[in-house]
This record gives sequence, structure tokens and C-alpha cells, in this order.
Amino acid sequence: MEDYPRNLLEFEERFSSDEACREYLCQLRWPDGFRCPRCGGRRAWRVRDVYLECADCHHQASVTAGTIFQDTRKPLRLWFRAMWYVTSQKNGASALGLQRILGLGSYVTAWAWLHRLRRAMVRPSRDRLRGTVEVDETYLGGLEEGVVGRQTERKAIIAVAAEEDGKGIGRIRLRHVPDVSSFSLHVFVQDSVEPGSVVRTDGWDGYSGLDQLGYKHKVSLLRHSKRRAHELMPRVHRVSSLLKRWILGTHQGGISHEHLPYYLDEFTFRFNRRSSQFRGKLFYRLLEQAVLTDPAPYAQIRKGIRPGPPPRRRRRRREPE
Ligand SMILES: [Zn+2]
Repeated sequence: MEDYPRNLLEFEERFSSDEACREYLCQLRWPDGFRCPRCGGRRAWRVRDVYLECADCHHQASVTAGTIFQDTRKPLRLWFRAMWYVTSQKNGASALGLQRILGLGSYVTAWAWLHRLRRAMVRPSRDRLRGTVEVDETYLGGLEEGVVGRQTERKAIIAVAAEEDGKGIGRIRLRHVPDVSSFSLHVFVQDSVEPGSVVRTDGWDGYSGLDQLGYKHKVSLLRHSKRRAHELMPRVHRVSSLLKRWILGTHQGGISHEHLPYYLDEFTFRFNRRSSQFRGKLFYRLLEQAVLTDPAPYAQIRKGIRPGPPPRRRRRRREPE
């Protein structure tokens, strides 16, 4: 059952206390009732509002442990407001905007919160695209002049896949790729598109061989065509121009290469849910994924490191809150 607030008033009424927020997280995390993370026990009682103590092994489980909210010293109410704000803005939020609206003391905190939320914007087991899918690359940042075609050092290369949906666009996938070699592009296609689908690309060599990987590969050869790229693959071109506008507009282009993958995740999250009738549904999806997303220490976020096993015998750094 998808139970979420439909509008701001419902949101305010529903999440006016930390207790209400915690209760909601419990429902999302244990939809079939509590399960002790240590022994699998199903009976528990509350301790100091914050913990659930397992009746069998007496392990004290916190609903926020192992999620992006782990170890936060700020009220959950504030986190919920941050998520509502981020998902209710059509173009998302900047760190400065979030800092102002929540009254956070530090810009760094707002910045780190947004990055934690972005990490929750990609579902670990999401479905691949299917049907007919356009695939192409686009180049972001470092507006160097005189760089021709695909030879570039400082620009970031983004691989784009967009499903055809009639004349419109279905779902998309984006990835920051190191180069446009067939290795990089094949891995992107295999991770993003279901085998058996039709993949449309231009005549770049990096795409040849997709047939052998189980795709129906259709090539639009630009060189000998009188038509332009945006006519041959209108969807990926539309997506890349929206992406560029978003990065220049909401984020003033100030994104480093290390952090770029997370911004691409946020753009994809929004884009694939752009037709949701209620913004509350985005809030719900984000929260649902937030309780499944591993905590990210500040030091990892700062360096743009994808979560992995925690380093041994090293103290975790915290951002000022
Ligand atoms: Zn237990």
C-alpha cells in the first residue's frame, strides 16, 4: 500500500513530530512487521522512543541504523522537510536553497544532506529499459573551443539511453563514462537496456558489436544523411539539452567530475517520475529508497566515493551540524 501525503497541508499535519516520522520509517522498513536484524525475532518493545528492543535476544534496533539517517543529530522532522522540499521543487534544490528553507546553520550540512538524498535516488535493483531505446553520448562542462567531435580531455562524457514511448520519451538512464570506447559503451548498454530490445545509435564504431550481445542494433548513419542528429535521435537530444539546462540553471554548472554521477542519479530520478500526479509520490519513493540505502560518512561524500565496506580502524569524520 502506498500511503503518502498528497499535498503540503497533509504533509505538515502528518509529520509534525519525530515520533510520527519514526513510525512512518518503521512501516517502510518493516512492512510486514518488525524483524530483529540480529536474530530475526518478530516481537519487540519500545525503549526511550528511539529503539525497538528484541524480545528474544534483547538487541536494540534503531529504525535509522543502516539507513542514510544513521547517526544524524538533527531531528527526523527536519530530514522529512528536506525530502519534501527536494521532491516538491520541479527542478530540485541547491544546497543554498535547502540551507535557507530549513534554517540550517551551515552550508556544508545542507550540501552533505543533498548528497545523502541523491544516493537514495537510485534503486539498487531497478529494471532495465526495454522496447526501442536510443543511445548516444553527450558532453558536459569545460566549454573548450575548437574541440572537435569525440576528442576531449576536460569535458565529462555522459552516455544517455532513452526509451521510445510513441512520439515521446519513456524512461531514461544516464552514466558518466570515462571514454567512448566500445568497452565503456557496451557495458553501459548492457547495464541499462534489456537484451532483445532494439537499440538505435549513430554510426560510431564504439557501438558496433551490439548485435552479438543480444540486441537488435539499428544504426542511423549521420555522415551520409541529410538529416541532423536531433531528427534522427530526438529523444536523447531532448534529454541531454534538459540535463544541461538543469545543471547550468539549478546548480550553476558548479559540479565536479567526482560528484557528477550523483547529479545524474537525481536528474534520472526526477525525469522518470515527471508524470506522477502527486509530488508526494516522489517523496514516498525517495523515503522508501532512503531506508534501503547505506549510510554515507561525510568523508566519503566529500570525495564522491560510492559506498563500500567501511575502512578499518579509522575514525569517521562528521560534518558540522
Ligand atoms: Zn533479536
